[in-house]
Amino acid sequence: MMTKGTGHERPLDIVILGGGIAGLATAVALRQRTPHHVTVLERAALQGCSNHSRRTVEDDGAPPSETQHLDTDYGIALAPNGSYILGLLGMKDHARELRGIQLNYWALRPASDEEVPASQFPTDPLAPAIFCSRGALIRWLIKAATDESLPGTPVTIESGLGSLKIDIRSAKAGSKSGDLLILADGLTKTGRAAVLANQGLPPEHWEDAYITAPQVAYMGLLPVSALSKHSHLLMDGKLQLQPNGTLMNWTWDPADEEGNVEEDPMRRAAKQQRLILYPISKEHVQLFAYLPSTPELLARFQRGARGGRAAFIRNVSSEEAAHHFAAFAPNVRELLTACPKLDLAQIRDAPTLASWHSNDARAVIIGDAAHAALPHTGQGSSQALEDADALSHLLRPLRAATSTCPEESEILVPQLAAALKTFDSVRLPRAHLTQRIARLFNGCIDPAELQQMDCFDFEEYNVRVMSYRGVEAHLAQNPA
Ligand SMILES: Cc1cc2nc3c(=O)[nH]c(=O)nc-3n(C[C@H](O)[C@H](O)[C@H](O)COP(=O)(O)OP(=O)(O)OC[C@H]3O[C@@H](n4cnc5c(N)ncnc54)[C@H](O)[C@@H]3O)c2cc1C
Repeated sequence: MMTKGTGHERPLDIVILGGGIAGLATAVALRQRTPHHVTVLERAALQGCSNHSRRTVEDDGAPPSETQHLDTDYGIALAPNGSYILGLLGMKDHARELRGIQLNYWALRPASDEEVPASQFPTDPLAPAIFCSRGALIRWLIKAATDESLPGTPVTIESGLGSLKIDIRSAKAGSKSGDLLILADGLTKTGRAAVLANQGLPPEHWEDAYITAPQVAYMGLLPVSALSKHSHLLMDGKLQLQPNGTLMNWTWDPADEEGNVEEDPMRRAAKQQRLILYPISKEHVQLFAYLPSTPELLARFQRGARGGRAAFIRNVSSEEAAHHFAAFAPNVRELLTACPKLDLAQIRDAPTLASWHSNDARAVIIGDAAHAALPHTGQGSSQALEDADALSHLLRPLRAATSTCPEESEILVPQLAAALKTFDSVRLPRAHLTQRIARLFNGCIDPAELQQMDCFDFEEYNVRVMSYRGVEAHLAQNPA
């Protein structure tokens, strides 16, 4: 808060780089909770937004298209902690508003497809676990950010801008500068590298910003109609996947076949293959098929302009995918060949950090840019929503001076520094826990990280992460 000076104060100008889940959710939360002026700058053209222009293909291997195709985007599982935050931002009926499906059961089966009773997923009407397409969530966020009829100053979203350059010292992205730059640019590492360089970390910390997991994943969308012939997905005469809302997970563990029960659980996990299927709408089912990567598979990901390998290979052959999953029952393997289109994704996460903001408190990284996690715990978007909730709450009381007198305009810096320090203290431990537990389940955590963990149990982890009910409740119980 401005406590001294002329008393002439103004809301902040906040620039957000990246219109993914983290950037847009933060824009919505700031609009609803603060008087600040918010601009989101997105390199791809977003359907429903103005400003279309050239798009640069980056090292993340995003498709060389100028538009994010929200209708054919991949599916995500939104965890209860994330859906609770969406409730705080005004979502009332999650499944309906996201055109998604509520998770009610999960079924873990061996690769042989032997039937095992499904487990019921606990339901809380205020925090349901939801399967939906990422595009449906992006659409909801764009509307909540820009709809003139809703309370608060509408957010300006400029999309289709190509990859923008940033300058942290002037909180500037492209030609737009503000009081604070929120960097929500995902795995592209522009924001992350700039913040870590500003923190004074040597180049090896920010040039190689992400860790490639020893796994790759085939991913595709199946029309629900393609499932009608898969009788193995029927249980009690009902299609378990939809509309009942079941996540199916088939695992092949080579150690079982070798009778190698003594093997270290982490080494075992790293060798497993898994095929996961869940409904994301009344029309589509999302399929992910994970397998250990090999040098040959990794070499197929093209190198981008800056030397990094692309995150995706689009339109791979489904026969090739089915061949890799030869250990699975034929009717499970057939799910891969039933996908009209399959992509191959590299699985990556980010090293944990000591802080997410620049030393001069002019920029902060959020979402995947700050804490990308392996997908195995389905927390990526929920953690991004937690960032949005916490950052907007902490920035609410801040004001800048209208005076151009240097002494007065500097008053904002210590306020920002204090808010971002509290943001770190609330968010880092939670995000780091989800990153580490995902590495643990994936069999690729390094010993130093393992030592920093205070929770190894899946049940305890689930309660700790999924029962979170927003930053206000958290700070009431754990004052900063
Ligand atoms: C295989 C797979 C499965 C997953 N499954 C799940 C799941 O089940 N549940 C879940 O919650 N999460 C899941 N995730 C992760 C989830 O998708 C991410 O955590 C989440 O989308 C992160 O959101 P973000 O906004 O931080 O980043 P992004 O969604 O990557 O958004 C970043 C945005 O910034 C833009 N941008 C980048 N650079 C620039 C620039 N220089 N200038 C302007 N704009 C820029 C990009 O175009 C993009 O729109 C999965 C991910 C993968 C790969």
